Amino acid sequence: MTADCLFCKMVAGSIKPGTVYEDSDVLAFNDINPQAPVHVLVIPKQHIATLNDLDAGHATLTGKLIRAAAHIARETGIAEPGYRLVLNCNADAGQSVFHIHLHLLGGRHMRWPPG
Ligand code: 5GP
Ligand code: ZN
Repeated sequence: MTADCLFCKMVAGSIKPGTVYEDSDVLAFNDINPQAPVHVLVIPKQHIATLNDLDAGHATLTGKLIRAAAHIARETGIAEPGYRLVLNCNADAGQSVFHIHLHLLGGRHMRWPPG
């Protein structure tokens, strides 16, 4: 828990997000500003600021994040039409919350490459 981190506050329960999935290591909730019909943020309960802060000890946790996202995709009916996972790192990618989070986006067609 990092006191001034928005997503740590969600994990701690001081802010109640629209939770769509939770287990011992992972929390997932609807994005407040959705960019697609399904836009869920999948976060580790542990505070990790950016992708650059991951080390070998986080391998199991990162696998759990991806598997949780795939589970939510199935549950929300976007698995077969298709979906996108995005993990923004630092300024050029537009990271605005410095507690890593997978964006799970689906429910509409998405172009590639992104802008
Ligand atoms: P980033 O730009 O860091 O990759 O993504 C941060 C995401 O967090 C954005 O999509 C933004 O809409 C979302 N977000 C920011 N503040 C809140 C909040 O208070 N609640 C929720 N549910 N999402 C938030
Ligand atoms: Zn945090």
